[in-house]
Amino acid sequence: MCGIIGFAGYKNAPEALLNGLSELEYRGYDSAGIACFSDGVIKVLKSVGKVSNLRKELPPDLLSFCGIGHTRWATHGGVSKVNAHPHTFGCVTLIHNGIIENYHELELILKQQGKFPISQTDSEIAAMLIDSFYQGNAYTAIRDAVLQFSGSYAFCIMFSDQPETIYCIRKGSPLVCCCSEQGSIVASDMVALLRYSKDYFVLPELQIAKVTRNSILVTDLEGQECTPKLLSITWDLSSAQKNGFKHYMLKEIYEQPESLRRTIMPRLRKTDDDSVLLLPDFTEDNIPDSLFSNINRIIITACGTAMHAGLIGRILLERLLRIPVSVEIASEFRYENPILDKYTLVITVSQSGETADTLAALRLAKNLGAKTLSIVNVKGSSIARESNAVFYTHAGPEIAVASTKAYTSQLAAFYLIAFRFAYLTKLQTDTQCSLLSSKLFHIIPDVEQVLMLADKVKKISRNLISATDLFFIGRGLDYALSCEGSIKLKEITYIHSEAYAAGELKHGTLSLVTEGVPVIALATQPDVFSKMISNIKEVRARGAFVICITTQDAVIDPTLYDQKLILPPIDPLFAPFCTAILLQLLAYYTSLLRGLDVDQPRNLAKSVTVE
Ligand code: GLU
Repeated sequence: MCGIIGFAGYKNAPEALLNGLSELEYRGYDSAGIACFSDGVIKVLKSVGKVSNLRKELPPDLLSFCGIGHTRWATHGGVSKVNAHPHTFGCVTLIHNGIIENYHELELILKQQGKFPISQTDSEIAAMLIDSFYQGNAYTAIRDAVLQFSGSYAFCIMFSDQPETIYCIRKGSPLVCCCSEQGSIVASDMVALLRYSKDYFVLPELQIAKVTRNSILVTDLEGQECTPKLLSITWDLSSAQKNGFKHYMLKEIYEQPESLRRTIMPRLRKTDDDSVLLLPDFTEDNIPDSLFSNINRIIITACGTAMHAGLIGRILLERLLRIPVSVEIASEFRYENPILDKYTLVITVSQSGETADTLAALRLAKNLGAKTLSIVNVKGSSIARESNAVFYTHAGPEIAVASTKAYTSQLAAFYLIAFRFAYLTKLQTDTQCSLLSSKLFHIIPDVEQVLMLADKVKKISRNLISATDLFFIGRGLDYALSCEGSIKLKEITYIHSEAYAAGELKHGTLSLVTEGVPVIALATQPDVFSKMISNIKEVRARGAFVICITTQDAVIDPTLYDQKLILPPIDPLFAPFCTAILLQLLAYYTSLLRGLDVDQPRNLAKSVTVE
């Protein structure tokens, strides 16, 4: 959460910072600010609201070649100009992403020294502490301060007597860096580096980067110079732009045939040239076969939409492998003293690879001796680096806060992992694994067909715009999808919504289903179809407005629903890809018709790097 950028170079720094902040704005957007060296002094500019507000306030004559910028997602202290970053104390001006958990204790010590903050943020306390240690040596001041911080942080720090220089350090929160002909840039995410270079490195934790226009010098806390590993971005700037779509979310929904192709295609291989068998192969991912041997239990842990992908993964893995699989919310799992051993495979899922709770869950699993595999979109991210093995989804940059293509790519990852696991352990025959793999490959045209239903979904969504509460119901895979459909709709439409296992509704929640309450009923799974129909009848009998998502061959009495969406002909095991896209479109159009900010819904931010 929160986007940070530092620039030292040969072009206009305020413009570079504002462009970077616009690209990072999906990470936080309650306030924004920049600080720039200009005529040898640090000038700070802040404003409440979006980066566009800050842009309006930028003095046209502000000349600078070095500065830092921040777009905030408040954790400590309300949304106000005084709490917006950068924060200055004494010689120090900084921006911060993360939470200094012991800021209150540190504040009390500083107050005893007669030093008082003006904001309510933990970040200002960090500026005060660094300043209290500063006597001209940035390295020792930063080192002595960070040794006292607990929590997570990525800082870009300027010292008033060290013009044209930025120091950076991080623990827990992300920071990537690149050098280019236009200068040196550091940022929370490589989307802000793309316009400068495709080569970048992740600043290792607890190492200090000294950023000047010609170089980025990295040293550890003992002062030893380090050489971080260079990585390369495989996508370009246009993938991180809207390309004519009204919103990033819509663009990312439409990108799903391509993102799925990128997730699936590199992992499907014929066993040899003459073979007719098409099987998942993880050689290029460096995922060793040994990861799947001697496993008697799988735990999937993640947050939000990634956790919902895990719900589908659980059903699939259990069906194919017949070993117990559970899905744990990462923020709960890490405090539950879980029972793990070397026979447990822990799969963590995170689009950004930086989700703080998921990262902590991964570290815990490793400490307890479990094998770990992560499903991650962003290359070189913390979760990817720290897992025993990583499956990169290759979904490309996802900018809208509501996750769409990252989710379906995570689903595809689970399918491939389940098929590979079943193949290696011989829990399914080679022929069966090959058949499943080719069906996965064939979902791409199905997904293309589903996107053609967008106009119909738009019409249906008109029925939801004035709803105050609604329900998603389903069984099995459709229940897992209901959870995802519900969160998607909630986060961007602000309509209260709940997902219910359809059979569970009558144990309490049915009392909320009254005349006209919308119920989105998913009925795509033949094994539970007749039971699902009974549940639709139950809500219909209470006057629900039913929108039914089902398959072509399903026969449903037309009096049981008001609207119906039909999936293209598809094996039910693979229906989640198509159903997910219909639910994404439903959320998108409902938000659009309600006149809301689809890409940047209130109170939320992408890449949740706070716990
Ligand atoms: N904890 C800091 C604040 O509330 C930084 C939050 C962020 O990462 O945006 O200002």
